[in-house]
Order: sequence, then structure tokens, then C-alpha cells
Amino acid sequence: MCAIQRARKTDAMAGDEKVPFDLASYERRVHENAQRGTCFICAIVDGEDDEHLVVWRDDVCIAFLAKFPTLRGCCLLAPLDHRTGVVDDFAEDEYAQLQRRVHRLGRAVAQAVPTERLYVLSLGSRDGNAHVHWHVAPLPPGVPYREQQYAALMHENGYLDLSRQEQSSLASRITGLLDVEPA
Ligand SMILES: [Zn+2]
Repeated sequence: MCAIQRARKTDAMAGDEKVPFDLASYERRVHENAQRGTCFICAIVDGEDDEHLVVWRDDVCIAFLAKFPTLRGCCLLAPLDHRTGVVDDFAEDEYAQLQRRVHRLGRAVAQAVPTERLYVLSLGSRDGNAHVHWHVAPLPPGVPYREQQYAALMHENGYLDLSRQEQSSLASRITGLLDVEPA
């Protein structure tokens, strides 16, 4: 059974179905943006990109739903400023401010969708999507062990082609659950 078929089987059990992701086109777009010096997160911050559904913004961070989610409810949280070093570019207090927001967002996401385990991780690349960001990704119940963790997050295993309406409804639910002010 190929990875996509496995992903379909898994997600059928979890209530979602993954479809193949066009990695080659995605990589091309990301590299072209990097070469042009364009940052998709800065574009969202500046209001130049309205395709991403923003769930939260304050004077420190912005958080939005993943445009090509591998798990329902996947969000990215990033500082408003364009910084690329996940720890080196932040003083300890600045980092803690962001992590309090990751915590708050994580609690909202885990309440918004059925979540067996919440994944939080910072990836990114200097060759594309360099702006520091944290993925906040909820694993639904019922996914077999081998298809959890990295396997659940990899676009090589497909993504959830959710409608704009489904994503908008998810975004509203998450925003509605962000009810605790961080310190
Ligand atoms: Zn940026």
C-alpha cells in the first residue's frame, strides 16, 4: 500500500481524507519567493496576502490556518517581525512571550477539533519560508502509531483539501476559543 493510500485509510478512520500534494510546484513557488526576497508571513502581516485565514493577531504575533493542512486545524504562529533564528534572534523574554502565545493557541486548537496529541514544532528553511514560525498541529484520535508524528505532518503523505467554508468555520472556532489573555 502506498503512502497516499495509507493516508486515505488512516484519515477515513479519523474522519478526513487526504489527497496528493503537488510538492514540485510548491517547492518551485517557495524557492522563487525566496530568490525574490518575498516572505509569505510578512505578506500576511502586511495585509498583502488574504488567502490565509488569520485566527489571531496581537502586538507580538500572528497566527493563521495552514493553507495546505496535513491535519485538520493545523495553525502556524509567527512573530510579526521577520526573524529567522528560532532562538538566536530572540532575547529570552521575547521568546517566552511567543511561547505563551503558542500555549494559548495550542489550547484553543485542541479544543476546536478532536485531538489525541498536540504537536508543536518550528521548522522553516533559509531556502524558503525563513520567517520563524511554529506549527501547532492536532493529531486526531484513531491514527495508527506508524502514521502519527512526522508521517502525519509530511505533505508527501497528502493533505486535507478542505473547502474555504470549512477552513473559515475552523478559524472562527479557534478564534472564539482564544479567550485567555497571556501574561
Ligand atoms: Zn517575514
